[in-house]
Amino acid sequence: MEASKYVYLDNAATTPMDPRVIEEIDKHFKESYGNSSSLHSIGQKAAQTLVKSREIVASLINAKRDEIIFTSSGTEADNIAILGVALKNQNRGKNIITSAIEHHGVENPCKNLKKKGFSITFLPVDKYGLIDLRELEDMITDETTLISIMFANNEIGTIEPIKEIGAIAKKHDVLFHTDAVQAFGKIPIDVKAMNIDLLSASAHKLYGPKGVGMLYLRNKGVRESWGKFIEPIMYGGGHESDMRPSTVNVPGIAGFAKAVELAKNEMPKEIEIQTNFRDKIIRNVLKNIGDSYLNGHPTKRLPNNVNLGIRFIEGESIVLDLDSEGIATSTGSACSSKSLDPSHVLLAIGLKPHEAHGSLRVTVGRFTTEDDVNYFLEKLPPIINRLRKISPLTKL
Ligand SMILES: *Cc1c(COP(=O)(O)O)cnc(C)c1O
Repeated sequence: MEASKYVYLDNAATTPMDPRVIEEIDKHFKESYGNSSSLHSIGQKAAQTLVKSREIVASLINAKRDEIIFTSSGTEADNIAILGVALKNQNRGKNIITSAIEHHGVENPCKNLKKKGFSITFLPVDKYGLIDLRELEDMITDETTLISIMFANNEIGTIEPIKEIGAIAKKHDVLFHTDAVQAFGKIPIDVKAMNIDLLSASAHKLYGPKGVGMLYLRNKGVRESWGKFIEPIMYGGGHESDMRPSTVNVPGIAGFAKAVELAKNEMPKEIEIQTNFRDKIIRNVLKNIGDSYLNGHPTKRLPNNVNLGIRFIEGESIVLDLDSEGIATSTGSACSSKSLDPSHVLLAIGLKPHEAHGSLRVTVGRFTTEDDVNYFLEKLPPIINRLRKISPLTKL
């Protein structure tokens, strides 16, 4: 291994910060250190940074400035959306519809509500990871207050039919939340055209800092026919329109806004470059490695996501061997890869547990080069050959 070479192909787990974001954050740590709630000028400077950042983040998804609530993560935004809507509207009904392939940030608050007497409908998905729109519509009852379906899946990259889901939610007067953490800044999103009521995003999947996220709340969480449709899940000072108390992380948010600005400018170019890398990896692996297949949809997928099934070996062994060659990839999602349970997403698309264990996720990003892709494609086959020779599964 060349000591200097490190090829990072795990951009769905987190991204390195863009140097321009680091510079922006550094500036704000030095210059906007005031509390944005303070009356004095250094506090007001921070408050202005916050206004500007809100404007930039909102503009990426065709939202208004005052519809953005900054949070400490994508997971926190998911929790506020799901628990906040469920609790506020329990008198209207206690059913929530979600999918079988959500990130734990959505899945686990839903499971928690179930323990508290709510009914949760987990929609199955097809072999590509897509929900069925007719089935979604059939599942809506008088008790349903919220549909929460992710924009794009973090493991297999499948992009759900968001606009169509939004139309169904609107037709049945049900709220629609989408966890857009993987899609935000990667592919176009328009909350108005797609009829999205709530949307979660996170800065660290977008070359921004870890520990900064946001929740979009349509019309500040007020629906004409329902009144206020969400309540806070934490109580403190009145920050973020009473939805997320805590002294606001202004430098982190300024970094998030910088990341959004960069994403907005570079999106068309990045989609093109990354789609090329993605398809080159898929083509090459399926051609050169026997008993391999693609997980997720061939075209309705994120530009940066490759998820491969490699038969007869454990994804974990491949990840460790690639790492020793200086290449970072993952198996399952980062959160579940430390547990021995197979990924719930791969099981939901119909893989057997042993197949799900043989998955390899390769996610390219802004800083991936053609050389990186070639290096990966050169190192992978000998690793697989070696592992298959020693694998007890080969004989199965
Ligand atoms: C990473 C991720 C999250 C969690 O975001 P954090 O900011 O890390 O809490 C939620 N949903 C999806 C789809 C993700 O990929």
